[in-house]
Amino acid sequence: MKNQFDYLVVGSGIAGLTFALKAAKSGSVAIVTKKSKLETSTNYAQGGIASVVGDDDSFQLHVEDTLNAGDGLCHPEIVELVVKTGPERIRDLLELGVPFNRRHENPELFHLGREGGHSRNRILHAQDMTGQAVEKVLMAAVEEDPNIVVFENHMVLDLIIQHHSMKSGSVDLYQQDICRGAYVLDIDGDQIHTFVANAILLCTGGAGKVYLYTSNPDVATGDGLAIAYRAGAKLANLEFVQFHPTCLYHPLAKNFLISEAVRGEGARLIDKKGRAFMAKYHPLKDLAFRDIVARAIDTEMKTSGDDCVFLDISHKDSDFIKDRFPNIYQKCLSLGIDITKDPLPVVPAAHYMCGGIVTNLSGRTTIQNLYAIGECACTGLHGANRLASNSLLEAMVFAHQAANECKTHIGSWHNRMLPEVPDRSAKLSNSHEGNNEMVLIAHNWDFIRRLMWNYVGIVRTDKRLALALNHIAQIRMEIREHMPKIPVNSDLVELQGLALVAELIIRCAIQRQESRGLHFNVDHPGKDESSLRDTVVFKNPAEEFLSSVPIKTSEQASAPQSSALSFQHR
Ligand SMILES: Cc1cc2nc3c(=O)[nH]c(=O)nc-3n(C[C@H](O)[C@H](O)[C@H](O)COP(=O)(O)OP(=O)(O)OC[C@H]3O[C@@H](n4cnc5c(N)ncnc54)[C@H](O)[C@@H]3O)c2cc1C
Repeated sequence: MKNQFDYLVVGSGIAGLTFALKAAKSGSVAIVTKKSKLETSTNYAQGGIASVVGDDDSFQLHVEDTLNAGDGLCHPEIVELVVKTGPERIRDLLELGVPFNRRHENPELFHLGREGGHSRNRILHAQDMTGQAVEKVLMAAVEEDPNIVVFENHMVLDLIIQHHSMKSGSVDLYQQDICRGAYVLDIDGDQIHTFVANAILLCTGGAGKVYLYTSNPDVATGDGLAIAYRAGAKLANLEFVQFHPTCLYHPLAKNFLISEAVRGEGARLIDKKGRAFMAKYHPLKDLAFRDIVARAIDTEMKTSGDDCVFLDISHKDSDFIKDRFPNIYQKCLSLGIDITKDPLPVVPAAHYMCGGIVTNLSGRTTIQNLYAIGECACTGLHGANRLASNSLLEAMVFAHQAANECKTHIGSWHNRMLPEVPDRSAKLSNSHEGNNEMVLIAHNWDFIRRLMWNYVGIVRTDKRLALALNHIAQIRMEIREHMPKIPVNSDLVELQGLALVAELIIRCAIQRQESRGLHFNVDHPGKDESSLRDTVVFKNPAEEFLSSVPIKTSEQASAPQSSALSFQHR
C-alpha cells in the first residue's frame, strides 16, 4: 500500500512533534515512530531547557557560554539564531501548557536551574521531568490535530531517492538527489509500506546505544544517521560524543541519568573514601564542562580501580531535595539509596551526539526535500561540545525554521505532479521461529557496544582507534555476507545502522589529530589550529555516480561502500 502525505516526519520526540504541529497548519502530516509514540530520549530529559528569561541574563552571555563549550567549532550565526529565538520557542511551549516551575516567593518568575558551563541560572524545568512534561503536552496537541496521523511501531528502513540530472547534449549540467519518501517496516504487521511525501524530516534522535553504557533509551540507535549516509547526505563531527558524567551505577538501573542539575544545586563528586576530587581538575570544580567532569571521573576510576565514584547531596535540606528532584529521589529510593542521607554511586555514560546530518539554517540537508532536526542533525550549534540543556532548545528552533521554509513551498507542491515512485510495499513472511542464526545479531550488537566503549570512549589513542576500525570492518563484512538470509526484522536493521554509525564515528575520530572539546586523544593532547574545521563524511560521490540507480532500496544501500572523509568548511 502506498501512503501519500505532504510531510513525512520520522520520529516522535520534541523535534518531530514540534515540526508536525507547525507543519500541520499547511498540509497533511504522517509521523512514523519505531516503537510506542512516547519512547523517545525527549521523554527522559530531566534537567530542562536553556533560554534567556532571567533578569540577570543576556543573549550575549548565553551565546558566549555556548561558544566556550563548543571549543572553537560552533557556527556563530547558528548560535545567535538559537539563542535569540529561544524565548519565542519557550513561549510556544507555555501556550501549549508546559508547566515550567515558578519561584515560590514570586510565581510571576520562573525557577531557573544552573548546569555546567552556564554563567547564569537559565534552565527552565518542570521539576526533574522536563522532557516528560514537554512530550506529554506536544503529543496531546498532535493527537487533537486532524491533519496529523501517527504510525507507531513503524520503522523507516531507507529513503527513496531520485537521482536527478539536467543534461545539455552529453554534458551533465547539474545533478541533485531528491528525496521522495521512505520504505517503512510495519513491525507488528510484518509488512513494508511505501510512504511518499513532498518533504521528509529525519527526527530520529541520537546514537547512544552504540556504546555499552548510555543514558539513552533503546530507540537511540543512530538510524537516521545511517539512513542519511546511505542516501548520500553529508554528515559531520561524529567524533564529538558527549559522555554524561553521572549515570546511576546499579545493577537494576538501566540507563538512569542523574541530572547535572543535582550538581547545580550543590552536590559534590567524591571518591570511595569520601574525598571531593573535582578541585584537582578544574577551577569550576563540580560545575566544570561535562567533558572535563567525565574525564576526571574516568581518571579517578582508572587510578583507583574502583567501579564508580559517588555523588553527594545529603548536606542539603531533605525536603528541598525531595521537592526539587522527586523523580531521582524516588528512583534511587526504590533501589535502596536514600539520597537525602547517602551518596549515590555514579559512572559516566554516552549521552549526546554533537555531530550528525549536516543542515543549513532551515534544517535542510544536502539532499533536496530532506530535512534533519534535533539530535540527529549537525546544525553547527554545539561545535565540539554541547552546552547542557541546549539540545531541546535547538530541536524546537530548527523545527520552527524548517516548518517556515516548507510553508513557502507548499503551494508549488500542490500544483505539481509527484513522479511515479516504485511501490515496494510487501508482506513479509517473517518468523524468527526456525531461524537458528539470531545469535549472530545479538553477538554483534554486544560486540560493537563493548568495542566502542573500550576503544573509542572518553579517552582515545591512535592505536585503539586503528584497532577499532579493523574490528568494525570485520563486523560489517560479517553482516553483509552472513545476515542477508535472516528475515528483515528491527534488530537486524538497527544492527546494520549501528555498525555503520560506529565506523563513521571511528573514522571521524581518526581524522581529528588533536584534542578538542569532547574528543580527547592521548597521542595528540593539544589543540591544532589548522584543525579548526568540521569533519565531514559522505559516500564517495564517484562511486555513488557509478552505482547510481534512480531509486535505492535497503538491500542496495547495505552493499559495500567506500566513503569520502575530509576536514571542510561547510
Ligand atoms: C536521560 C536523558 C536526559 C536528557 N536531559 C536533557 C536536558 O535536560 N536538556 C536537554 O536539552 N537535553 C537533554 N537530553 C538530550 C535530549 O533529550 C535529546 O537530545 C532530545 O530529546 C532529542 O530529541 P529528538 O526529537 O531529536 O529525538 P528523540 O526524542 O530521541 O526521538 C527520536 C524518535 O525517532 C524515532 N526513531 C528512531 N529511528 C527511527 C526509525 N528508523 N524509524 C522510525 N522512527 C525512528 C524514535 O523511536 C523516537 O520516536 C537528555 C537525554 C537523555 C537520554
